[in-house]
Amino acid sequence: MRRSSDELAKMRKAGKVVAEMHEATRAAIRPGITTRELNAIAAEVIEKRGARSNFLNYHGFPAVICTSPNDMIVHGIPGDYVLEEGDIISIDCGAIIEGYHGDAAYTAGVGQISPTAQKLIEVTERSLWAGIEQMTKGNRLNEIGRAVQKVAEGAGFSVVREYVGHAIGTAMHESPQVTNYWPGVPGPTLKTGMVFAVEPMVNVGSPETFLMDDGWSVMTADGELSAHFEHTIAITDNGPEVFTLA
Ligand code: MG
Ligand code: MG
Repeated sequence: MRRSSDELAKMRKAGKVVAEMHEATRAAIRPGITTRELNAIAAEVIEKRGARSNFLNYHGFPAVICTSPNDMIVHGIPGDYVLEEGDIISIDCGAIIEGYHGDAAYTAGVGQISPTAQKLIEVTERSLWAGIEQMTKGNRLNEIGRAVQKVAEGAGFSVVREYVGHAIGTAMHESPQVTNYWPGVPGPTLKTGMVFAVEPMVNVGSPETFLMDDGWSVMTADGELSAHFEHTIAITDNGPEVFTLA
């Protein structure tokens, strides 16, 4: 769907709130903090900015952010987990302003992390930006996933297939989906005013996933590390505009 400039202005505002949630949680990441405390920090930002949470109560999800450590790919529920030196932690944040949604995620290291973990984080973020570079009017949607996949697999990692990015607007998850791989067809033509959440999930090992009994936590099947980066991005006449940057 193509959004009006008025709608895009609201999404820009929602994106700024999400960016602030990133900054606040990132500043708090250290050994000894719980994922529940990180959730409380993000909730404070939502409150302070007069936004609403799109995560809370989403199909019953009980928090305003997802916190997914180490071999957890996405959708982790904040709780008693205590961050440890050497962990990596993926934090997914979202907010609604005047009915319009923002959605973005990052992965950070906790203290000193392994060279593999560091490389995984860098490559996953770079794969997201390679995807964003494809977001120009007239290009085809699935060029995004092709670019993401090239960076991730070029570094010796794999991209998750079962979970994907999405169009976003008056709902967090709108059609079409944005894969992080080339799905075999080019997909729709990108037009000015379209907005997508692009979100590569990159694994050190195999791309296979495993859903935990809590019905939310998505793990790598092989127990290897996974990272996740996401931005909400609009197609404009002058190229991509990333709404969820500070
Ligand atoms: Mg997200
Ligand atoms: Mg998303």
